[in-house]
Amino acid sequence: MTADIIPHTSPDAHQPCWQEQLATAIRDPAELLKRLNIDPTHLDSSIEAQQAWSIRVPLPYVQRMRKGDINDPLLRQVLPLGSEMLSVPGFSNDPLGEEDANPISGVVHKYHGRALLIISPACAIHCRYCFRRHFPYEDNSLGKSEWQTAFDYLSNDMSISEVIYSGGDPLAANDNFLLWITEKIAAIPHIKRLRIHTRLPLVIPSRITDSCLHWLTATRLKVVMVWHINHPNEIDHAVRRTAGLLKHHNIELLNQSVLLKQVNDSAQTLISLSEALFEAGILPYYIHRLDKVDGAAHFDIGHDKVQQLQQALLDFLPGYLVPRFVFEQAGTSSKQALSSL
Ligand code: SF4
Repeated sequence: MTADIIPHTSPDAHQPCWQEQLATAIRDPAELLKRLNIDPTHLDSSIEAQQAWSIRVPLPYVQRMRKGDINDPLLRQVLPLGSEMLSVPGFSNDPLGEEDANPISGVVHKYHGRALLIISPACAIHCRYCFRRHFPYEDNSLGKSEWQTAFDYLSNDMSISEVIYSGGDPLAANDNFLLWITEKIAAIPHIKRLRIHTRLPLVIPSRITDSCLHWLTATRLKVVMVWHINHPNEIDHAVRRTAGLLKHHNIELLNQSVLLKQVNDSAQTLISLSEALFEAGILPYYIHRLDKVDGAAHFDIGHDKVQQLQQALLDFLPGYLVPRFVFEQAGTSSKQALSSL
């Protein structure tokens, strides 16, 4: 373990707590561009997009963006653009058919053996390519007293061995709630694993507090955390330290990325990403083709380019650093290999 990832959670006296960083996230595109010394005329085409789905970016993430560069790959992931308002054939509000895989409120059950819980409708960051940007969270947000129906669903299906915490971002929920729900899940004997899909430890690394580590480690469930990191510039010292802390507590760390035009659609960027992930103790696991959600078509890259990127990674990286290139198709029983297209 290198010196910069010595595990500890002592609060940094100069850093606000994660809840404050969540509350002070930037919600105005003009303010974001001002902080980055970027000409506000770039916003001309984005007002409608911002009204349709607001911007949200925590400051620790903004600090990793390059000043003065409208094409910064982190900025591009969060800045509303006028092109989001275009209707593009093949793109829809529910590209993965989750409406048909939502048996009861708060539960998405697409694949054998795994069920996903909508733990929180909120996110720390609004990623413009998000496949759930039109998800009906209002129909899937449960009060504490309403969760019993979901626990009954999990208890009654003996085939489910893994529960996935998702959202929104599940770590946007508070640790008391997460401790409570994790104890409820662990009380179901046939559940073996807990998988947590989150961007919070990336965008606000101080989210991993002692109370968070408590519920992550007090459970009998084997815990896997899946990070969503798309570009090597997203990984800084604080991110490496947080990943080291989780590793130290035996949390398995995997990463999944999304292929995004003008963000990570170059072989060198993806190679650097795999190497940076591994240095941080996170295994590159999946790289997804963009889910064809309305508003994100400007991130799509062609199939030939995807194949070239996959081959470049195979040519230049050891096998364990090459993520699986996959896509999701509504109604299928698993993710599909992109090479099968
Ligand atoms: S659900 Fe994940 S990808 Fe979607 S906006 Fe939230 S953090 Fe981003």
